[in-house]
Amino acid sequence: MKIAIIGAGAMGSLYGGYLSRVSSKVYLVDVWQQHVDAINEEGLKIDEKDHAVIVKPEAVNDAASVGPVDLAIIFVKSINTPAAMEKNAVIFGPNTLILSLQNGYGNIEKIAKYADINNIIAGTTAHGATMIEPAHIKHAGCGETNIGWAKSKNDKRIYEISEVLNSAGFKTVVSDNVMELIWSKLIINVGINALTAILKLKNGDLLAGNETKDLMRMSVNEAVKVAKAKGTEFNGSDMVKKVMDVAFATSENKSSMLQDILNGRKTEIDTINGAIVNEGEKFSIDTPVNLILTNLVKALEKSK
Ligand code: NAD
Repeated sequence: MKIAIIGAGAMGSLYGGYLSRVSSKVYLVDVWQQHVDAINEEGLKIDEKDHAVIVKPEAVNDAASVGPVDLAIIFVKSINTPAAMEKNAVIFGPNTLILSLQNGYGNIEKIAKYADINNIIAGTTAHGATMIEPAHIKHAGCGETNIGWAKSKNDKRIYEISEVLNSAGFKTVVSDNVMELIWSKLIINVGINALTAILKLKNGDLLAGNETKDLMRMSVNEAVKVAKAKGTEFNGSDMVKKVMDVAFATSENKSSMLQDILNGRKTEIDTINGAIVNEGEKFSIDTPVNLILTNLVKALEKSK
């Protein structure tokens, strides 16, 4: 299978790196020239818990030399999805399947502006990865990859994708309700990411005080209302418990939004808490806690 990863940062390098061991051709496509050059010169190093793996996918800055692929995996930050789709349009042929495992709301809609919705698969990943330096990442956590068609249908091609992901070591489950997967992950990010970024806390530290737990509960309940208006129903208290359980299970993690703020990078706030505010407005649902969290993170982005 000819595969291109669009956005070969921490997660794109992880998936692309391991896929390159089982697929005939894997290209890592990224605008970060230093990273691209280092991968082509030395290979990509993946730090596992007790050993390191070197893999040798081909990295490119410009997708023109790659041409249409069988599978394109989009792993840019959600705010960069439109630019990445536009810049790398040459990769998407009429039969190219496009997989998004990105966080944030609205990736399917953004991708569908550049590709056939019937070729889009979306989902979530419970793996975690961190960029150490060019051509060097750390595989920070393992878990399931869940995928489903963006537009529900009975199309067996998704099983070829789950098979190739499984063979590369990513335990993958096919779901027939992709929106539930995406909303569930989104709500977890709504409850954890902005608060950790604003307060400079690790995930588990959010559970230490009633003040932070109250804010988690309120932001999650707002998101549950918006999800329901959009057609995906969750039980509010079950969801609050789930978010707190994830914060506990990932106690020592610095959320990606906290890492972005600490590194002076733009965050995914617009597609996480900001998306709850925007989608809530369309249904006249008040989302004051998510609005405050969004504005505080945006203020932090500007203050770097
Ligand atoms: P990252 O910032 O490490 O990687 C993104 C890469 O995209 C960068 O290397 C950047 O240079 C590249 N890029 C930006 N614009 C581009 C363009 N136009 N064309 C090609 N490349 C471009 O981000 P990440 O941590 O790998 O996260 C990617 C996505 O996965 C995000 O949505 C994130 O929320 C999600 N996610 C991350 C983790 C994690 O542990 N890091 C876990 C689950 C989900």
